Amino acid sequence: MIKANFHQHSLFSDGKNHPEDYVLQAIRLGFTAIGFTEHSPLPFSTYYALPQRRENEYVNEIDRLKSKYAAEIKIYRALEQDFIPGITENFSTVSNRMNLDYSIGSVHLVAPSHGDELWFIDGPERRLYDEGLHALFNGNIREAVSRFFFQTNEMIEKEAFDVLGHMDKIKMHNANRFFTVEESWYQDLVMQTLELVKAHRLIVEINTRGIYKKRSDSYFPDHLTLRQIKEMNIPVLISSDAHMPEELNLGFAEVQQHLIDFGFTSTMTFDEGKWKEQPLIG
Ligand SMILES: [Zn+2]
Ligand SMILES: [Zn+2]
Repeated sequence: MIKANFHQHSLFSDGKNHPEDYVLQAIRLGFTAIGFTEHSPLPFSTYYALPQRRENEYVNEIDRLKSKYAAEIKIYRALEQDFIPGITENFSTVSNRMNLDYSIGSVHLVAPSHGDELWFIDGPERRLYDEGLHALFNGNIREAVSRFFFQTNEMIEKEAFDVLGHMDKIKMHNANRFFTVEESWYQDLVMQTLELVKAHRLIVEINTRGIYKKRSDSYFPDHLTLRQIKEMNIPVLISSDAHMPEELNLGFAEVQQHLIDFGFTSTMTFDEGKWKEQPLIG
C-alpha cells in the first residue's frame, strides 16, 4: 500500500487547511512521507497561487514542521510550478530561492498563439473552459488542445522539474463533448509528449483527484495513455492532489490495483533527496 503523498495543497495556495493538519492526518494514516506542493507564485493575481509575499512564511512553516515531526514522518517542501511561456519565472530560480526538495511541472493556463489572454483549463467551473475555447480559439478544440500539449512540451524542454503533473488535465472539462481520447490526432499529441518525458527522464504523475471529485471518468492520465506509459517504461508517481487532509489517500487502493492490472511493477517515491523505485504490492 502506498504510504506517502507528494502532491497536496494547503491554505498557502488553494487548499483548505493549515499544513500541520495534513501532517497530523498523514501520521494517523501511517504515512512515511508527505510533500507540500503549493501552486507557484504568479506575476498576476489568482485565487489559487501562493502569493509571492508569503513565500518566506511558507518556507519557514514547512521547516518548522520538518523539525517538529522529524521522529514521525518525512516532510518535503516543494511546489507545483505553473509554466506559461514568457510569463512565469524560471523554475530553477524559484527552486533555488525557496530551497525546494522537488518540483512538479503543470500547465493550468494555456497561452494562445496571439493576444494576452490565457485559457484556464482547470478549476471547478466548466463555463470558463467553454468560454475560453470559444473566445480564444474560435471553438476549434483541436487547435486549443494542441496548444495545451505544445506548452507542456515547451515546459519539458526548457524547465527543470521532476514530475509531470496531471498531463492530460485538458480532457477534464471536455468531458467527451468536443473530442474523445481515442481520436488519432489526440493520441499523436500524447505520444509526442511521452517521447519528451522519456528523453528528459521525467516521472509521470497518476493523479486520482478527477475521480474522487467526480470531475473525470478516468485518472489523469487516462487508461490509453497509461498503457503507453507502461509500454515505454516511464516511471510513475501515484498522488491525490489533496486540497484538504481527508483527501490525502483518496483513490490510492483502486489506482494501485489498476496499475498492477496494467502490468506496472513499481511506482516512485521520494526519499532522502532522491526519487526511488518501490515495488507495487496490492
Ligand atoms: Zn494542478
Ligand atoms: Zn495540484
